[in-house]
Amino acid sequence: MRFGLHTPVGKGYEKAVTYAAELGCRTIQFFSGNPRGFRITDPKPEAWARFAALRREHDLLPSAIHTSYLVNLATEREDHLAASLALIAHDLALASSGDIAYVNTHLGSYGRRERADGHLQVCRMLSELLDAIRPGVYLVMENSAGAGNLVGGTLEELGGFLREVDHPQLAVCIDTAHAWAAGYKIDDAPGVEAFLDHVERDVGIARVKMLHVNDTLVPLGGQRDRHHHIGEGLIGTGGFAALLNHAELREKIAVLETPGERAEDERNVAALRSILR
Ligand SMILES: [Zn+2]
Ligand SMILES: [Zn+2]
Repeated sequence: MRFGLHTPVGKGYEKAVTYAAELGCRTIQFFSGNPRGFRITDPKPEAWARFAALRREHDLLPSAIHTSYLVNLATEREDHLAASLALIAHDLALASSGDIAYVNTHLGSYGRRERADGHLQVCRMLSELLDAIRPGVYLVMENSAGAGNLVGGTLEELGGFLREVDHPQLAVCIDTAHAWAAGYKIDDAPGVEAFLDHVERDVGIARVKMLHVNDTLVPLGGQRDRHHHIGEGLIGTGGFAALLNHAELREKIAVLETPGERAEDERNVAALRSILR
């Protein structure tokens, strides 16, 4: 399995690639702009092309963009919806021009509206985005921690989007900390086996393109989104060993999203390496 880190690119693409390569990564995920904003920032074409060349050179493919946390495809606010669509469309185009296979996005929150109405709107918005998608790029829906009205907390719901939108470039990312917070018990081999059966039934393992491998201290089903260092939380080495060495997941990419300094990144990568057989 190819693993990598969510890597800041604010100090330059070259630094980001060097950092990932030094830590032995074979994929990379990053934000294309401010993760807490809607402002669209375009890289200079030469820098963007150089980044793609560097990622190829260091074997960091496939790579992934993570869209802004503000994205909400289920919102009733028109301005918020328009900004969300524009941002994802921008990231999809950017991905295509930069040899990036995956654009990973949160789907947002239903707020106080009827879930059925929100669900329909999400399907319509996904279809609209996929109408304009170029070959080689996937729009990847990340599972949520399932809190309150968050979209995409269950495999059934994500599977519903896949079936209703019915587009081969719509895919899924499983964030392990979110899955745990949403109530999926993946801390040992039998739990992982049952979870993957569930994934296969409702989503299809082939539609899962990436994993976010984060441990967590939130209790099972606690519905909070807090990431913790690999192997040091409640999913633990038992859960990650069963998941990351599973034959069905070998072709996926795994991204560590635990924020930290270099020492912590190195610790997480070392833990991951000791888990990967
Ligand atoms: Zn995310
Ligand atoms: Zn995640």
